[in-house]
Amino acid sequence: MLLFIFLGPPGSGKGTQADMLAPYHWMKISTGDLLRDNVKNKTEIGKQVAEMMNKGKLVSDEIVFEIIKNKLVHGHNPKLLLDGFPRNANQAQLLEKLINNLGASYKVLLIELSDEEIIKRNTGRRICQKCNKIYNIHFSPPRVTNICDECGVDLTIRKDDTEEVIRERIDVYRKEVDDLLKFYGQKNEIAHVNGALSASEIHDTILKIIEETNR
Ligand code: AMP
Repeated sequence: MLLFIFLGPPGSGKGTQADMLAPYHWMKISTGDLLRDNVKNKTEIGKQVAEMMNKGKLVSDEIVFEIIKNKLVHGHNPKLLLDGFPRNANQAQLLEKLINNLGASYKVLLIELSDEEIIKRNTGRRICQKCNKIYNIHFSPPRVTNICDECGVDLTIRKDDTEEVIRERIDVYRKEVDDLLKFYGQKNEIAHVNGALSASEIHDTILKIIEETNR
């Protein structure tokens, strides 16, 4: 099993890039998507995490790790992309142990983006409530305003994509990312990608990185 760990601030395009790799048989595991599904379905987990998510704060490491563990242990896809996990050094350590136990290997990719661009991206983000496809009114709008190209249903704005909450999420990200980079920097080479490029340019760069990893 090979994992690509996508690190980067909120709205840097981790989810979009992971989706663009689906035709190459990479499967995305997004803790944010999985948590939002729990909130939408009003599960016990959903009730526990909704408030923290709406404020832009991290939910407990135990809850997200349990979700990730289930996916990695019971998943059958050998090529996985982690979007939004790990978010701090403790999560990285938990993941490291799990990866070792599973005999898997991994590569870390960091998508970098300025705060100004992060705010523009996040406030422009729209999501299909049915298939979770991600659009952006500035860069990748749907063909018909506010309607998913695939499902024909209305697009929604994430509750945590308001400017106030985005600023909180940026703070949380900047506070934790140095520890994460230190952790992975000691173990593994981190591939850096410029998140200000277009989605297709970033996609091409990531494809090259994947190719080099497979060599
Ligand atoms: P995302 O979709 O990755 O931006 O995540 C949305 C929200 O879900 C975050 O602001 C957190 O509240 C929560 N979340 C997602 N992944 C994690 C994680 N690995 N650790 C803690 N909270 C998370």
